[in-house]
Amino acid sequence: MPPKISGIIQALEPSATMAMAAKARELKAAGKTVYDLSVGEPDFTTPAHICQAAVEAMQAGHTHYTVASGIPELKKAVVEQYKAAHGLEYAPAQVVVANGAKHALHNVFTVLLDPGDEVIIPAPYWVSYAELVRLSSGTPVIVETPQENNFKLTPQALRAALTPNTRVLLLCSPSNPTGGMYSREELGALADVALERDLTVMADEIYDRLVYGENVFASFPTVRPGLQERTVVINGVSKTYAMTGWRIGWSLSPQNLAKAMADLQSQETSNPCSVSQYAAVAALTGPQQCVAEMLAEFAKRREFVRKRLAAIPGVSFPEISGAFYAFVNIKQHLGRAYGGTQVDNSTQWCLELLAQKNVATVMGSAFGAEGYARLSFAAGMATLEAALDRIEEFVTKS
Ligand code: PMP
Ligand code: GLU
Repeated sequence: MPPKISGIIQALEPSATMAMAAKARELKAAGKTVYDLSVGEPDFTTPAHICQAAVEAMQAGHTHYTVASGIPELKKAVVEQYKAAHGLEYAPAQVVVANGAKHALHNVFTVLLDPGDEVIIPAPYWVSYAELVRLSSGTPVIVETPQENNFKLTPQALRAALTPNTRVLLLCSPSNPTGGMYSREELGALADVALERDLTVMADEIYDRLVYGENVFASFPTVRPGLQERTVVINGVSKTYAMTGWRIGWSLSPQNLAKAMADLQSQETSNPCSVSQYAAVAALTGPQQCVAEMLAEFAKRREFVRKRLAAIPGVSFPEISGAFYAFVNIKQHLGRAYGGTQVDNSTQWCLELLAQKNVATVMGSAFGAEGYARLSFAAGMATLEAALDRIEEFVTKS
């Protein structure tokens, strides 16, 4: 008999974004040309000065364990960045550096939640939130938001979802998967409910520097006085500096939570990679021109994707204010055959699009929104052009 897997892990859904990326990779390895719009990962290589800092860190012997919650230089750089960008004052002890923002989220849920504690997650939501809550014995409470409101949670919908067990409100702005972003006023209205009902807010701000056009990012703790004591901010270097593989993310939280997470990490993973931490210091404190350049490229792609999608009959999508995703409503293209195969839901649609046109996307159902498909435009222009030609052909000529 093979060993038994624990109940909590038997119930775990693997990450759909990772699964679609793996499928695309398999096809590529088998010699196929795949137009990969699945994973949300900048296609740029990490800027040279950041890589150079990592080389220098290795040469200087920074190849040992560090303080489990992160090196003082990186905590200081994070604190200074939040002060400069948002005027927020944090102590370095409020920063816990983790192995990516995903791990930071897991840390927070682990130290916050007891069995039965409810976490409000507006849908569509990033694939990992609900699973990470369940792994920490919490209960995700999914609150649907309408496309007409750019998939944003309203205070009314939030109030309607509250129960005596509600502990946490999770907000992701700019949003993965919708590309939507809350204004300062919209966040303020949600903050009023959080303050009134004594909720802890987890603000996933990992796309804070990837904002387009006239849109202005507001960091959640700045929108009302008194929020900093009840907010955990999540951020990291993966998206802003094209550093997904380096695995550095962090939380900024009230001292008691930060201390609990530092203790947890000291038992669980020890420190995040020492060399990556030094690279992250260079990312935050070095020249920021690279961020502007990548943003300009993303902005071009966003324009292109919006234009192409708008010309495809029977699809619609919310305004893309930030991040690098288009969340496309494909409901009018379900319930029919594509090349002889009946396609009734977003999973079948994405799998057929991959099988028939070699275009990888992620099914809306993985984000809690059936009838949608997510396209990541963190891919080169040539890939985007070919992928959109093929998507158009798929829905109009199949
Ligand atoms: N939050 C959101 C909304 C994301 O899209 C991602 C992307 N993976 C993460 C957190 C985690 O990022 P990472 O673990 O690479 O820092
Ligand atoms: N956040 C990215 C995405 O949603 C990376 C993959 C992941 O961590 O899920 O595609």
